[in-house]
Amino acid sequence: MDSLAEETGLLRQTAPSPQRPYETRRTFAIISHPDAGKTTLTEKLLLAGGAIEMAGAVRAKGNKNRAKSDWLDIEKNRGISVTSSVMTFEKGGVNFNLLDTPGHSDFSEDTYRTLTAVDSAIMVIDAAKGIEAQTRKLFEICRLRDIPIVTFVNKIDREGRDPFELLDEIEEQLALSVAPMVWPVGQGGLFKGCYDLVANDFLPARGSAVPCPAGLEDPALETALGAETHAALNDAATLAVEGYASFDREAFRQGHLTPVIFGSALENFAVGRLMDFIAAHAPEPRPQPSDRGPVDPSEDKVSGFVFKVQANMDPKHRDRVAFVRFCSGHFRRGMKLDHVRSGKALAVSNPIYFVAQERSLTEEAYAGDVIGIPNHGTLQVGDTLTEGEAFRFTGLPAFAPEVLRRVRLTDTMKMKQMRRGLEDLAQEGLVQVFRPTIGSDFIVGVVGPLQLDVLASRIAGEYKAEVSFEPVQYNVARWIRCENPQLLKEFIRENTMNVVRDRDDWPVYLCKDEWDLRYIMSRNKDIAFDATREIV
Ligand code: GDP
Repeated sequence: MDSLAEETGLLRQTAPSPQRPYETRRTFAIISHPDAGKTTLTEKLLLAGGAIEMAGAVRAKGNKNRAKSDWLDIEKNRGISVTSSVMTFEKGGVNFNLLDTPGHSDFSEDTYRTLTAVDSAIMVIDAAKGIEAQTRKLFEICRLRDIPIVTFVNKIDREGRDPFELLDEIEEQLALSVAPMVWPVGQGGLFKGCYDLVANDFLPARGSAVPCPAGLEDPALETALGAETHAALNDAATLAVEGYASFDREAFRQGHLTPVIFGSALENFAVGRLMDFIAAHAPEPRPQPSDRGPVDPSEDKVSGFVFKVQANMDPKHRDRVAFVRFCSGHFRRGMKLDHVRSGKALAVSNPIYFVAQERSLTEEAYAGDVIGIPNHGTLQVGDTLTEGEAFRFTGLPAFAPEVLRRVRLTDTMKMKQMRRGLEDLAQEGLVQVFRPTIGSDFIVGVVGPLQLDVLASRIAGEYKAEVSFEPVQYNVARWIRCENPQLLKEFIRENTMNVVRDRDDWPVYLCKDEWDLRYIMSRNKDIAFDATREIV
């Protein structure tokens, strides 16, 4: 087994040579079910990384910002996080880029796109609850992309489930090998601290770490715990080491094995170990898929893609920020990049980077880094930026919506505002907007109904137009395509009532239910009905 402490030391000694600064980047996200402790853990990571100075800062700042903006009231009222952002901090020569993912299940599309921009993820599990619905959903997305996952079993300061039961659950439900790294000593009222099975030291509930060079048998451990607790830990930890996989860096990086750290975000137990682990073992920027093959981070020329667009981040300025993940090269402020979709040059004069909730101008960026580019609608989710080459990054999907509604405007004088709002928010990826072939009412599609509340509230708050939603007779949407353009045209002509256009003018077929879909598919075998489409 590798020594975690040694590895961390090693990484710092061979601190990245200036030629390959991207090797210091760790771009990751936290995936979890709501309430598992993602916000608390984020805060503690930022604290450990020196990005914020005081516990409570993320939440306090978040609340202050939230108060400024109407639409975020929903977020506040429902206690969920709708927005996603990026937090950058540096520690021990390692640059951490933490991409925040919206926690609620309704926002899976936005989350999915954020996960296309990370190289690893922390999966936070509540020790009392184990794997929950949203954890599993997000995990599946990570698995699709072979994103390596570190598991943090949180809240061990409280009564929770048996650690072995939790390990077995992860192993069985997610079909992953588990490698226990940091083990709890007691739980709830009997919680004494954590034992690092790799570094061999004890992290007591209070006071500093107790080195145990002789491992679990070390007399220092018995002194610290007392004979009875020591014996119990010894038995459990030996079983944990022998009964489960040892940490294997390659298996972890390929997404077959997850190291497991038991800790407490609230009490700040083992959060430092988690961070050391990410620094030492989480992958540096990985090659990214494109239509000219994988783009390696060591390539000289700058390239990156937009994985998220957020409108009106600052309600005072009607701005729109496109979040770009760099994949290669050395970006410097003021550079002109090629916007591949439009074929135009884009001077990036005011790139923003994010430290905790603050933004400031950035002078440079490397593969793995994420910056925000303020713009007025030029940049869309899925766009590629390059230094003179015409290729596109691939693999950023749009999903067929599961809920469809007709948009009704209360005051018809506000048509322009509503249209603008729908367009902006569709670009952000909050909703999909469809134009019918006949008639003028917009149809919106979402993955979950909560998005509709957010949509109405944001259009009212940011665009001053009141909208409501009416049910439509459709529940299923599929993008349609055909190798023979003539056939597609005929199909669209024969089904005008059911065909709408998405924001990129792609035809979408709407029907009542899966049964109808199967029927129409059986009668039009040359037409493909897609539940996802790649964003181009
Ligand atoms: P999120 O929804 O995943 O972002 O979860 P939060 O970070 O907001 O945490 C949800 C609740 O769990 C809050 O009341 C936290 O104070 C609490 N919590 C988070 N981490 C811990 C922990 O390690 N121990 C205990 N006892 N409570 C925690």
